[in-house]
Amino acid sequence: MPFLLSSSAALFSISKALSCRTLTLLAANPRCQFSTAMSISLNSHAFAGNPSRLRTAKPSDPFSPNSAFQTLKTLLLSNSTHESFSPDFKVLPFRKGRPLVGSSGDSGSGGPNWRLGWLSLGECKVFLEKSEVSLVEDLLVYLGFKAEEDVVYWAIDVSEASGMVSELGSRQFSFVELRTLMVATDWADPISMGDLAVAGHARALLEWHATSRFCGYCGAKTVPMEAGRRKSCSNEMCKKRIYPRVDPVVIMLVIDKENDRALLSKQSRYVPRMWSCLAGFIEPGESLEEAVRRETLEETGVEVGEVVYHSSQPWPGPIMGSKNGISDGPALIR
Ligand SMILES: [Zn+2]
Repeated sequence: MPFLLSSSAALFSISKALSCRTLTLLAANPRCQFSTAMSISLNSHAFAGNPSRLRTAKPSDPFSPNSAFQTLKTLLLSNSTHESFSPDFKVLPFRKGRPLVGSSGDSGSGGPNWRLGWLSLGECKVFLEKSEVSLVEDLLVYLGFKAEEDVVYWAIDVSEASGMVSELGSRQFSFVELRTLMVATDWADPISMGDLAVAGHARALLEWHATSRFCGYCGAKTVPMEAGRRKSCSNEMCKKRIYPRVDPVVIMLVIDKENDRALLSKQSRYVPRMWSCLAGFIEPGESLEEAVRRETLEETGVEVGEVVYHSSQPWPGPIMGSKNGISDGPALIR
């Protein structure tokens, strides 16, 4: 079969790979006369299945973003963060994009080997004050809630509070890269996968807050709204509403079923013998299928025929060399 391959693409046998669980998109080369979909068992995607976002609270519900934010504001104004209140507030600190994590101590018994470093509102306030940072409501970003546990979850960027690292280190906590957590997570454990999804959601929101400080229309400062779920331009003449950014990406496995081969790519930064599925950002005015065909043709010279959707996955951090990209990557399958 006369494929036109660039030097960074290659064909691999797929008979074994297709029994695995992590394939995301299959696209067919029309010259290879692909016909039927293949059976692939798919388990959970990393960063999907966030347990704190299972349902949306009504505006009057104490768990709703606006109600919880009002409670938060009242608590901070009255300096009563050490008193018990309902719902309980838990805060997940991040430093330079890394969530606070502790060892669960259960790894020997088969349980999760890490846990998120949730702080109470009072603890968070004390830690910040030790670094001479005042805890104000606009620093906190609403993540979601668990009504059955009477808890509302928040995230905060504490990169400016350098003293927190040593303070929390003495409690056996540290700030860990999300990719490291992803590798350390048992994907068959729904609790760990849920925690990973919470951390990913929080990371994406905080990253967006850090990179959207000014209005893209008039240049004025932006201010958080709805407990940090969106922002608004502070210019009264503009008042533009700004929502968290996502950058859709396609990830595809191009297959030559007839000849039992898959088309993979290799980048210069990869370690020896490392190959990956093709992927690329979707361009404005482009469908998912068109993006798959364009990216494959651009990257490898191979023309793709039928494209079949498989599943989608949130992705909280930089992807494919994009420094600040926050991506929601749809994935397709044939
Ligand atoms: Zn503006």
